[in-house]
Amino acid sequence: MSAESTVTIGLLLPDVLGTYSDAGNATILAQRLRWRGIPAEVRTITARDVPATGCAVYLLGGGEDTAQQFASDWLRRHDQLRRVLETSAVTLAVCAGLQILGRTMTDAGGHHYPGLDLLDITTAPGRRRAVGEVIATCALPGVGSLTGFENHRGVTTLGPGTAPLGRVVTGTGNGTGDGTTTCRNEGVLTDHIIGTYLHGPVLARNPALADHILHKVTGLALPPLQLPDQAALRDTYLRGRFSRCG
Ligand code: GLN
Repeated sequence: MSAESTVTIGLLLPDVLGTYSDAGNATILAQRLRWRGIPAEVRTITARDVPATGCAVYLLGGGEDTAQQFASDWLRRHDQLRRVLETSAVTLAVCAGLQILGRTMTDAGGHHYPGLDLLDITTAPGRRRAVGEVIATCALPGVGSLTGFENHRGVTTLGPGTAPLGRVVTGTGNGTGDGTTTCRNEGVLTDHIIGTYLHGPVLARNPALADHILHKVTGLALPPLQLPDQAALRDTYLRGRFSRCG
C-alpha cells in the first residue's frame, strides 16, 4: 500500500470482550500510523453490527467465560468475517479472544464449547487462576521482550504444528510448553494471527509488536518513534518494578 491509503482497523466486539481495556490496542495502532503521516481509521464493530469485512487488521480482546462463548457464536454466525480472519486480514487476539479462535474451550463446569477453528489450540481450565505480571521473550525477530498482565484460568495447549508467540520468563502465559523444557509458551503465532494472554493493552506496553503488525499490514518501512515516556514505562515493567497482583 502507499502511505496515502487509509489503514482500517476493525475493533471487534469491544462491548462483549472489553473487560481489560484491550480496545486500547486499536488506539495504539491508529496513533502510531498517524504519527508517521499514514491515515488510519478505527471501525468499532459491536454485537449489533453487521461486521465490516474489509479491514486490514482486526482486534479481539479478553473477557469472561460467558462473554467469550457469546463472541464465539457471534463470529461463527458471521462466516464471511471468519473467512477473512482465516485467509487475509492480520488479527491480534488477546486472552478470551485467543481462546475462541481455537478448536475447543472447556469451562470450569467441564462443558466443552467449539471455537472458530482458526488455530490448532485447545483451552481448558487450570487448577488456579493466573493473575499478575508477565515477561516473555518474543519469537518475532526484533520485538525482544514482551510485558503485560494476565488474568485468566484457561490453560492453552498448542497443536503439533502451531508456534508460540514467545516463551514465558515470569508468569504463566499459556500454562503449557512443548514438553522438551520447563519453559512455558506465551500465545500463538501464525501467518495471519497473533494471539497472546497479555493485557495492558499489550500494544501500548510493547510498541515493537505494534510496529510489527503495522509493517505486516502496510508493507511500509516505518521509521522509529522517539517516545521517552513510553520507553521509561517499558523499562519499569521489564525490570520488575511493578506491584504484583494476586
Ligand atoms: N475467561 C477466560 C479465562 O479465564 C479469559 C479471561 C480473559 O480474557 N482475561 O481463561
